[in-house]
Amino acid sequence: MKPFVDAHCHYDAAAFAKYSGAGYFICNAARESDWAPLLSGAARNRHIIPALGLHPWYVTAAADGWAGRLRDILEKYPDVMVGEIGLDAGRENMDVQYDAFVTQYQMAASLGRGVHIHCVRAWDRMTHVLKTCTPPPIVVMHRYSGSAQIMADLISSDANIYFSYNNACGGRLHNLIDITPSDRILVETDAAKPDSDTIFDAISQMAATRGVSIDEMAQILYDNGQKVIKNG
Ligand SMILES: [Zn+2]
Repeated sequence: MKPFVDAHCHYDAAAFAKYSGAGYFICNAARESDWAPLLSGAARNRHIIPALGLHPWYVTAAADGWAGRLRDILEKYPDVMVGEIGLDAGRENMDVQYDAFVTQYQMAASLGRGVHIHCVRAWDRMTHVLKTCTPPPIVVMHRYSGSAQIMADLISSDANIYFSYNNACGGRLHNLIDITPSDRILVETDAAKPDSDTIFDAISQMAATRGVSIDEMAQILYDNGQKVIKNG
């Protein structure tokens, strides 16, 4: 099996314990209760790259003091990234989400860590933060769903931004996948289990969309994924 990087997934301890295939998996936490299991999984398996943070769906329920505890862990583990953080207009707590997102984005920048971002229909606020705050070394827009214009704007900003896609490459995503620069594109599953079949399905769809061979697409995605893992 060819090597690959799943640029955005989650962590199911039992599923990863059974997996012995190829690949690197950037596993994102969603809640504080995910942090310790993910750190211990990553300590046992170098193919698991952990990102710790609070997902916008779970910020309201987070226990007081979470940001200090997150910072303490990040200071102790210099290779850990920050994710999954972001903004989701499908939820009603946008002000709480915004505060938590900016806190984590700035924390990542100050500690020199990459961030993994979820953004659904909140592009005005998102682009405001990305264009006005000091950027972290790497910014991954997971399952990118903004416009071509927002992509162009973000690429021209100071942030080192990547755009990640899964195996749903139809509709308007077809155009986004086609126009994403070769040095900015990533592939992901967003699954909780290691899933190489879905990754290779996505890679072959992306190759067809961009009119390149599957091998060439796989290599581009692997090289970009490794850059993210190596923090630039
Ligand atoms: Zn996710």
